[in-house]
Amino acid sequence: MSTATLSSQQVIAKFDRYVIPNYRRYPVCLTRGEGSVCWDAEGKRYLDLFPGWGCNILGHCPPAVVQAIQEQAAQLIHVPNSWYMEAQGEFAEILCTRSFGKAFFCNSGAEANEGAIKLARLKQGPSRYKIITCANGFHGRTFGALSATAQPKYHEGLGPMLPGFRYAPYNDLAAIERLIDAETAAVLLEPVQGEGGVNIPDDSYLQGLRKLCDDHGLLLIFDEVQSGSGRTGKWFGYQHSGVQPDIMTLAKGVAAGVACGALICTNELAPSLKPGMHASTFGGNPLAMAAGIATFQTIEREGLLDHAVKMAERFRGHFEALRQEVPIIQDLRIRGMMIGVELSVPAGTAVSYCMERGVLINVTHDTVVRLLPALNISAEEVDEGCEVICQAIREIAEQTGS
Ligand SMILES: *Cc1c(COP(=O)(O)O)cnc(C)c1O
Repeated sequence: MSTATLSSQQVIAKFDRYVIPNYRRYPVCLTRGEGSVCWDAEGKRYLDLFPGWGCNILGHCPPAVVQAIQEQAAQLIHVPNSWYMEAQGEFAEILCTRSFGKAFFCNSGAEANEGAIKLARLKQGPSRYKIITCANGFHGRTFGALSATAQPKYHEGLGPMLPGFRYAPYNDLAAIERLIDAETAAVLLEPVQGEGGVNIPDDSYLQGLRKLCDDHGLLLIFDEVQSGSGRTGKWFGYQHSGVQPDIMTLAKGVAAGVACGALICTNELAPSLKPGMHASTFGGNPLAMAAGIATFQTIEREGLLDHAVKMAERFRGHFEALRQEVPIIQDLRIRGMMIGVELSVPAGTAVSYCMERGVLINVTHDTVVRLLPALNISAEEVDEGCEVICQAIREIAEQTGS
């Protein structure tokens, strides 16, 4: 099954010698993938319910995206933004006709959020520089995005942060209102928190935020790096609440695993990013754009938004049944292919339990089993994965004497 020439151990030895050890890695080298399945260097098969940390929104190597990349690579890989290029215009059209406004392209989620922070400050002027964000949010690792990320563990040893960020608890409108002053420029948050544990706010919260921002002349910025691009069963997460932001950031799944980020802003805001004020050398390159176009076309052609909603209900069925059986499932939070199963006890051991049995999952914030399955996962694959995950949770229940 494998085309690998080195064993996992041989690859790990190279990493030990030459790669900076800033990631905790599973002791396995993946070599090949197809949809929701991938294989390691020893030929072991895994069902991947967290493909590419959410980047591989169509699973591994979706054929239409592979073909688009191959064809584009033979034509133009990169041209700078001093030229027009067809693919960038087309992908911008695809994104904006499904959302609003105009697009700027970059290469990652953090970079998209940096653009949003700069745009907010440029629009609001030098006396209004403060941005309110939410506890347990995640916006990326560059200094602006990191300062926006209200999680002390990610700031440790790196201070001082960029000035001007104020943090409020999530899903608490009054807390945001209390932080607004004459220097506030914007509110930045995820319409569904991902890394923070798949936290789904009340629709009324987002609607209230929209009104609060309008009343105070603030920009509302949604970080849809994880919740966008079809992930929640709609093109963009904000479309569940009917609340349109002034700025939206995208990355992760937007080009099905090719590095790509985007910032969408209203037509009114767009002129604030003047030539010379912001740029990204690789941003909007033809290769990423071709992948993005093929991604959105595939989601549409294969009806994957509706499919994701159906598969979400299938996941829910499995986990609701388990909830009747074991007492440690505290909460079940599912929006499309964004799935969080919160336990009342640490869930970390579920990752290795599942991996040994050939199922890849994630645990975040210690107690939340998190899945970001591909939008095109099959019903059989949902059943196969849930059987193993449910068994892992039963084991945890037994071990904790619950
Ligand atoms: C992953 C993530 C980011 C950071 O994206 P990078 O591409 O790693 O910079 C930002 N915001 C959200 C909501 C994310 O999930």
